[in-house]
Amino acid sequence: MPTNDTHDPTLRSWVESANDPAGDFPVQNLPLCAFEAEHDGHTHAHLGVRIGESVLDVAMLAEAGWFDFEQDEEGIVPSLLHAEDWSMIGAVPQLMGVVRARVQEFLLHDAPPGGQQGRRLRQKALRPASETVFLHPARMADYTDFYASIHHASTVGSMFRPDNPLLPNYKHVPIGYHGRSSSIVVSGEPVRRPRGQQGPPDDKPGQPPTFGPCTMLDYELEVGAVIGRGNNQGEPVGIAEAGQHLLGLCLVNDWSARDIQKWEYQPLGPFLAKNFATTISPYIVTADALGPFRCPAFARSAGDPTPLPYLLDEADQREGGFDITLEAWLQTAQMRERGMVPALLSRSRAFREMYWTIAQLIAHHTSNGCNLMPGDLLASGTVSGPGAGERGCLLELTWAGRGPDGKPLPRKPIELPSGETRLFLQDGDEVILRGHCEREGFARIGFGECRGRVEPAAAE
Ligand code: CA
Repeated sequence: MPTNDTHDPTLRSWVESANDPAGDFPVQNLPLCAFEAEHDGHTHAHLGVRIGESVLDVAMLAEAGWFDFEQDEEGIVPSLLHAEDWSMIGAVPQLMGVVRARVQEFLLHDAPPGGQQGRRLRQKALRPASETVFLHPARMADYTDFYASIHHASTVGSMFRPDNPLLPNYKHVPIGYHGRSSSIVVSGEPVRRPRGQQGPPDDKPGQPPTFGPCTMLDYELEVGAVIGRGNNQGEPVGIAEAGQHLLGLCLVNDWSARDIQKWEYQPLGPFLAKNFATTISPYIVTADALGPFRCPAFARSAGDPTPLPYLLDEADQREGGFDITLEAWLQTAQMRERGMVPALLSRSRAFREMYWTIAQLIAHHTSNGCNLMPGDLLASGTVSGPGAGERGCLLELTWAGRGPDGKPLPRKPIELPSGETRLFLQDGDEVILRGHCEREGFARIGFGECRGRVEPAAAE
């Protein structure tokens, strides 16, 4: 496993809240973020790192000379840390690891504070996360959404094709589509219910379509891979090198309008059912931080085809997976008013069982010469496990299967602690995605939250 001194579980920080063993943000994690900082009467985007209940202003550290290395004669590191985009750091090979180690050095419990100036910097560079406005941690000029969970693809496929849930290409080619980056929002921003064209009911196929607010609004629990180093157009990234292009992972909610999707998706795939909003968590947990939580690629069933050579690498098969526990929670408006905590909808470690690794997604995406850019977002597709409580969207969670006659049984509503039920999301519902990694002998690290509340559709 790719681990080093920065993963030492005995490390502690002088930021006391970082030493909570159940927290997401110990000094071994140091996920990347960007946030609004005010100085000189203006608002600027600053790069930061989350530590405990605080955010460390990394741009301010750069300003104070904390990243002035002898080896970095031209001052590349400080200049990159004044950018508004962490992916520029990830674009330089090995640099993220250097910056990570230096940030950790600043935060370690037994680090010398560096006199009065150092103590002042400790105070000045730290701000409460609860009072911070987070921005996109990377540019995310392009966004691709995959369909890499075989459990999700099988369950959803069985709704439409009971005898043949997986299409013949599924086990050969990572399926994906180009999403829309302009509507990616950061956790906490509200999401407006989309309006759109919906086809006639199943039992009245001859009726004309209608237009109106989506009535089958869903979330999709996904993991996003943020690209650090890009590739030149026409120059594919080989599978053995693909992992080096990954900056880190975040949480993604790929909001989905199922009624719009059902009517529009053939023959060219998702369009307006998906591109109205995608919510990301404000933090990128770096590939460096995730080192201890690598795991083998999903073991395919005997009889499944071997991937073509451009998708097959021994090291990737050995440790190309990530062992992450993912959760989806729901809090309705009524639950909020009554002071009730969110209800758990699903929890699973199914990200270990994705049919394709992140490296395979990157190698495939660039295999035709397509150029990825620093900051691009590649989402995994809905992450679902085989169990009933492991499904990553309402479309799957409320699916009741088929009756003896082969016809779908009525969907089974989710029952909430408030006594309310849900087939799909109502206005005022808030979806909260969470993720964390645990392994014996290492500090637990987490992804924070990816949170979004549904607002009513715009007036006609
Ligand atoms: Ca999706």
